[in-house]
Order: sequence, then C-alpha cells, then structure tokens
Amino acid sequence: TNSKRRPFVAGNWKMNGSNELVDSFSLKLASNPAVDVVICPPAVYLSKFSHAEFDIGAQNASEFASGAHTGEISLGMISEAGCKYVILGHSERREGHAESNEIVARKVKAAIAAGLTPIICVGEPLEVRESGNVFAFVKAQLDAVANECGADYIKNSVIAYEPIWAIGTGKTASPEQAQEVHAFIRKELAALDTQAAASVRLLYGGSVNAANAKELFAKPDIDGGLIGGASLKIEDFTTICQAA
Ligand code: PGA
Repeated sequence: TNSKRRPFVAGNWKMNGSNELVDSFSLKLASNPAVDVVICPPAVYLSKFSHAEFDIGAQNASEFASGAHTGEISLGMISEAGCKYVILGHSERREGHAESNEIVARKVKAAIAAGLTPIICVGEPLEVRESGNVFAFVKAQLDAVANECGADYIKNSVIAYEPIWAIGTGKTASPEQAQEVHAFIRKELAALDTQAAASVRLLYGGSVNAANAKELFAKPDIDGGLIGGASLKIEDFTTICQAA
C-alpha cells in the first residue's frame, strides 16, 4: 500500500454462505476506520446487509437495464439492494460463463452509469504466465474497457489483478510477481490519465490469507485485496483487513 491511496479489501463469497454466516458477519465484522471494507455475498443476501457497518457489493450484474433475461439481475436492482460496488469480469465469469473482454467492458460502462463502482478483475491463466505473455494478456483486458468507456472509467473503478492459477489453489503469486503486474497496470492506466492512475486502488487476488496478506500489501502498487476462501472466516478476514 501507499499512503496516498486508502487501502481496500473486498471479500468475494462466491456461491458460499447462508443466513447464519450473513448474521454473524453483520454482527461481528467491525468497520475499519483506515480501510474500505466490502463484502460481496450471493445476491439473495445483499439486502440483509443493508444496516451493516461495512459496504456491500454484488459479484456480477447484467449489462441490460431490464427485460427478458431470465436469471439475471440488473445494476439498478443491486443498487436498490444497497450495493456501492459490483465485481465485474471475475475469471469464473469470463471462463465459466463466456464473458468476453467486450461483454465485461459493456458491464463496466453500465455499472458506472448506474452510479456503482465496478471492481474490474483481470488476470492470466497458467499457460499465458508460462509462455511469458502476461502483460499483453492483461493489457488486452484493460484496453477493451478503455475502448468502451474512455479513460474516465479509471477514476470510477477499482481494479483487481487475479492470476487464475492463484485463485482457490493455495498457490499465491509472490509479492514480487504481483507487484510487477500491478506496476504494469498502473503504468498502462497512466498513459490514459496520469492523475486517475495515481489514485486508483489496485487489488491483488488469488489465495490471499491471514498469513500472507501483510507481505503482499506491503508492495507499493498493491492497495489491498480481493479475498475468496479466506473471506468466509471472520477472524481471517479481519486479520487481512488489518494487514492492509
Ligand atoms: P481465493 O479467491 O482467495 O479463494 O483464491 C479469490 C477470488 O477469486 O476473488
């Protein structure tokens, strides 16, 4: 982290949780005056958090405003449910639900228009890392958003770098590997808007836990984390928030 930017830690519950887990987080997860703390539960639980001390976000939303889209949820709806944030372009959406760079870019545009802050996820699969093409892969993901939204999206977004090989695998990127990509992302964004690039929060995600968070967050371009598995345990998640 860098003192110029307020640290940011988001918990992505994915398709996990229950009324019981929602209740215990609502009661016990304290706000942290020094960190923006966000919980992203499955959508059916969002409105149960509306009186919590922390902010909430959705894990996905439709690019469309309303209509014949069975099973989808609009940005307006998640906003009414109390969300300030929406995760977009998570690799599990890109890979498992065929979300292209262009679809993700249209969702980012719609989210900002709806007054939400997108948490835009980028990151490469293992083959791309092994073939040495990480920067080009991440650049294409970012360029698609800039092509759709213009440079203005940078000041209205949070960006998460999540190497796919590190997600849910227990195999985290080293702080140096993560910092290298974060610095690249900030440099790419700076080419569009220097000031916004200096203030945008860049999160690392992929097997962050209570033991490795501090070292990752100590890097100058890592402003916090997007936490999957470890966000389901209050003690671990609290420790991670304190590390930011
Ligand atoms: P993980 O997930 O912390 O369980 O690796 C991170 C994410 O997918 O956002």
